[in-house]
Amino acid sequence: MNYEDLRVVTGPRSGATIAIAVHSTVLGPALGGARMWHYESPGDGVEDALRLARAMTYKAAAAGLALGGGKGVICAPTPERPEGELRRALLLDFGDAVASLGGKYVTAEDVGTDAADMATIAERTSHVVGLPDERGGSGDPSPVTARGVLAALRACLEHRFGDPSLRGVRVCVVGAGHVGGRLARLLAGGGAEVTLTDVDRSRRALAEELGARWVEPGDAILAECDVLAPCALGGVIDAATVERLRCAIVCGAANNVLADEALAADLTRRGIVYAPDFIANSGGLISVYAELHQLDRDAVTGLVDHIGSVVLEVLGAADRRGTTPLAEAQALALERLSRAAPAAAA
Ligand code: NAD
Repeated sequence: MNYEDLRVVTGPRSGATIAIAVHSTVLGPALGGARMWHYESPGDGVEDALRLARAMTYKAAAAGLALGGGKGVICAPTPERPEGELRRALLLDFGDAVASLGGKYVTAEDVGTDAADMATIAERTSHVVGLPDERGGSGDPSPVTARGVLAALRACLEHRFGDPSLRGVRVCVVGAGHVGGRLARLLAGGGAEVTLTDVDRSRRALAEELGARWVEPGDAILAECDVLAPCALGGVIDAATVERLRCAIVCGAANNVLADEALAADLTRRGIVYAPDFIANSGGLISVYAELHQLDRDAVTGLVDHIGSVVLEVLGAADRRGTTPLAEAQALALERLSRAAPAAAA
C-alpha cells in the first residue's frame, strides 16, 4: 500500500479506536489534522485516515512545503460532539498515540477538533501545531487560507482574462464561514462584485455590510458569474451540475470540490478554468507549517503568494499538454516526491 506507518490503538482511557496513518515523510514530517468523527465502524475510521493521509502528501508536495502526509482519526463513540471527561480522555489517548510515533507524525486541527483540543493533546506530546494564540500557536488558519484562495483566484483571472485585477469581476462565494466570509471581504475590498450565500441566514448581515448580492443556497452554484468560489462542503460539482455551471472559473476553499476527479475533464471541455482545491486551499497548511518552523509574517506572505505561481504553472501546463489542471497538480506533486526519493514516490 506504500504507507510508511499505520498505527491503530484502543485508547486506554476512552476505549475508542484511534488511527494514525503516515503516508510519507519523504519531504518532511507527516503533518495532517486530527479528525474526531463518529464512524459506522472503526474500520471506516481507519480507511478515512489512510485516504486523507495520502491526500496530505500530495497537498504538501504540490504547495512546495517540506512536509509529508499523515492523518489522525479519533473514532467518537456517538454522533454527538463528545464533551467533558470523555472528550479529554479521547484527546489524551490520541496525544499518546501521536507521541508513540516519535515526531514522524505531527497533528493539527481538523473536522471535529479545535485549537483548545490541540492544547489538551499537547499535554501528552510536543508534536502538535495549531495551538491557541495565547499558547504561541498559529490559532485559526482561516485568514491565511482565505489569502491563499485569493492568490489562486487572481492567478486564474490572469490565466483566463490576462489580468489578475479584481475590479468588476463577478465572484459568487458559496459558504460565508471562516474562510468564505474572509474571502468575500478581501474580494469586496479589491473591487470585485460579490455574490454571497450560506445555509445560515444570519450570514446575510455580512452581505449587507459588504454591499454584496445575496442569493439562496440552491441557486448559487448555477449563478452566472466570472468566478464560482465554493467555500462550504465538498462534492458541489457533480455530473449534473458540471453541465449547467455558468462561470468561467472555479476556485474556492472547500476540500474535494469535485464529486469525482473525472469531472476535471468535463470542466476543461466546457472551457472552465479550475484551480485544484488542494492547491487553492493550501494556506491552511501553510499556517501550521509556519508555526512548526517559527516562520515570520514575510515568509508566510511569500508562501501564500507562491500558491498563485503554482496555480499559473498547472493551468499553463494543462493547456500546453491538453490535460487538466488537476492532473498537472498531481503530476507536480509526484515529481517533487520522486526527486526527493525516487523509490518512495509511487
Ligand atoms: P465553516 O464551517 O466556518 O464555513 C462553512 C460555511 O458553509 C458555514 O457558514 C455553513 O453554514 C456554510 N454551508 C454549509 N453548507 C452549505 C451549503 N450547502 N450552501 C451554502 N453554504 C453552506 O468552514 P471553513 O473553515 O470556512 O471551511 C470551509 C471549507 O474550506 C471546508 O470545506 C474546509 O474543509 C475547507 N478548508 C478550510 C480551511 C481553513 O483554514 N478553515 C483550510 C483548508 C480547507
